[in-house]
Amino acid sequence: MDLRVTEIFLSIQGESSHAGRPCSFVRLTGCPMRCVWCDSEYTFAGGERISFDDIFAKLEDFGCGLVEVTGGEPLAQKNVFPFINALCDQGYEVLIETGGYVSTERVDPRAKIILDVKCPASGEAERNHWPNLERLRPEMDEVKFVIVDMADWEFAKETIDKYDLINRTKEVLISPAHGIDNLSALAELVSQSGLKVRLNLQLHKYIWGADARGV
Ligand code: SF4
Repeated sequence: MDLRVTEIFLSIQGESSHAGRPCSFVRLTGCPMRCVWCDSEYTFAGGERISFDDIFAKLEDFGCGLVEVTGGEPLAQKNVFPFINALCDQGYEVLIETGGYVSTERVDPRAKIILDVKCPASGEAERNHWPNLERLRPEMDEVKFVIVDMADWEFAKETIDKYDLINRTKEVLISPAHGIDNLSALAELVSQSGLKVRLNLQLHKYIWGADARGV
């Protein structure tokens, strides 16, 4: 079996409660969504078909116990589900960074889900697959809101409340869209919200720059 892959690389985890940890990334090609602020449009097409065995060999060379499967939308390829099973069987700690449009139902329960909920400014909020929120597990899964403006912040707060996300997840991540000029205003909103959420900056972009690839 194989997958269409845009890049495989070793770096540090830039986001989530795992930020700062060494992590191997398998970035799959393709995404059915078109978020306005998407920073990985280069994954929409192209890529290379790579066999599971070749991907595993590369991960073994990296020698890192944490692997993130990301995209594009990683769950859009049907072969990703047996691939995740195999990663878990091999003893990797597996993170799945998904855009929230595809159902997470078939993801191996040993893998940790980091689920985006698309806010209005993404242009894709109506495509959130809401049953995914009901599957989140407090001991291991995280949910992420990318915030552009006040309407997004209000939408995030309403969704957190409606789906009881503070209790349903390990972490609720509030992530400013990279480059927004009111970062301090968002930090203030988060600090004054009274909510048990985490301001989630994309560490890799501060280290290597917003356009760097393979980091
Ligand atoms: S879901 Fe992710 S990869 Fe797809 S368009 Fe949105 S930000 Fe880009």
